[in-house]
Amino acid sequence: MGIEFSFSADQEAFRSAVRAFADREIAPIVGAMDEREEFPAHTVAKMQKEGYFGVPIPEEFGGLGLGKVGYAILLEEIGRVDASHAAILGAHTSLGLTPLLSYGTAEQRKRWLTPAARGEKLLAFSLTEPGSGSDSGALRTAAERSGEGWTLTGNKIYVTNGKEADHVVVLASNDPALGPKGGVTAFLLDRGMPGFSIGRCEKKMGLHGTSTAELLLDHVAAGPERVLGTPGRGFHVAMTALDVGRVSLAAGSLGAMQSSLEASVAFAKQRTQFGHAIAEYEAIQFKLADMAMKVHALRFMVYHAAQEQDRMGSDPAAWSTSDREAKTRAAATVKCLASEWASDVIDEALQIHGGIGYIRGTPIERAYRDARISEIFEGTNEIQRLVVARDLIERGR
Ligand SMILES: Cc1cc2nc3c(=O)[nH]c(=O)nc-3n(C[C@H](O)[C@H](O)[C@H](O)COP(=O)(O)OP(=O)(O)OC[C@H]3O[C@@H](n4cnc5c(N)ncnc54)[C@H](O)[C@@H]3O)c2cc1C
Repeated sequence: MGIEFSFSADQEAFRSAVRAFADREIAPIVGAMDEREEFPAHTVAKMQKEGYFGVPIPEEFGGLGLGKVGYAILLEEIGRVDASHAAILGAHTSLGLTPLLSYGTAEQRKRWLTPAARGEKLLAFSLTEPGSGSDSGALRTAAERSGEGWTLTGNKIYVTNGKEADHVVVLASNDPALGPKGGVTAFLLDRGMPGFSIGRCEKKMGLHGTSTAELLLDHVAAGPERVLGTPGRGFHVAMTALDVGRVSLAAGSLGAMQSSLEASVAFAKQRTQFGHAIAEYEAIQFKLADMAMKVHALRFMVYHAAQEQDRMGSDPAAWSTSDREAKTRAAATVKCLASEWASDVIDEALQIHGGIGYIRGTPIERAYRDARISEIFEGTNEIQRLVVARDLIERGR
């Protein structure tokens, strides 16, 4: 395990540019976006123009070529200001672009990866079904052979970006008896294909800028050119995407923790009670210190995991079994800790703010509602612990 922690001048410049963008373009609109529960189409279009929807993708495929470390920088800085924008980027990039980059043919990359990495098209990812969440290999959306291609029928739920996406990576069952071991295939479907429709969009506790949509597939005809990777090996496609997603989710959580910490320090210094700034009280100082320790530890974990993913590259055929297992365990570890620490840190930030922290529309109140989902989506934290425990027991360390 190589350890090297420093950012290049280019990475620092990218961080500064994203931070300035987030403060200038996103911060002013998030309150209204949250209140209206509206997809932030205007700022998403601006982020697309900046190239933010293709950050880790090589330049030859339309991306910025900044790798997973650059992508973590993006998510940290966007997550510092708003979790909805971070989730929209994550669903598109980690879960939509990764399958195309890692498993797409030259033709698929040209047709779908490059326009999406350039920000001309928005992507989503659809694994979850009403009967299969954590047990995702038990999905029932059917992919039946039909001539050269396939016919897809079934109901998917909880698709982030589902309402707005131009294309969706859809996981379907080609053989229920085989389940995740040979019975799941990944497809790339277009919005508007005959038989493809969007059902209900969920009302949620947080992440009000994102759509969480149902997808209804009624005998959708998908040609062989729409299969990502080998038929039957779709579970690998999904897990490769989720390994990237879990690290980027952690980067977004890191940003939310950082901004909550900074807001808490500033608030504690200016809020006076009993004749003193509350920052002078040890009870508050200890909370701030504990928050800062978690931020510090998580920063190393996030960038180390991203650096390891960059070292491994994006071609699954080049990964050794032990590299692949280490990557999956690292992603589960960082996702689980990041989401729980974010909930803890933001909870403490709310406590430091007192009553104002509970008032609707304050950044802390929004961050508190937004953070909770990270313990659930991209695999619940119980599932992350199972992933870590299985690897631990197998290796003995
Ligand atoms: C806002 C939002 C956005 C989402 N975005 C997407 C998306 O873009 N694409 C997508 O495909 N999905 C998405 N999801 C789905 C999300 O990934 C699932 O909700 C999640 O994986 C959990 O599945 P479930 O809700 O069916 O819970 P269940 O799997 O039913 O779990 C219920 C509880 O049982 C626990 N549990 C289950 N199995 C075990 C076990 N073996 N051992 C111990 N505990 C267990 C779980 O940890 C959990 O606490 C999204 C969900 C939400 C709410």
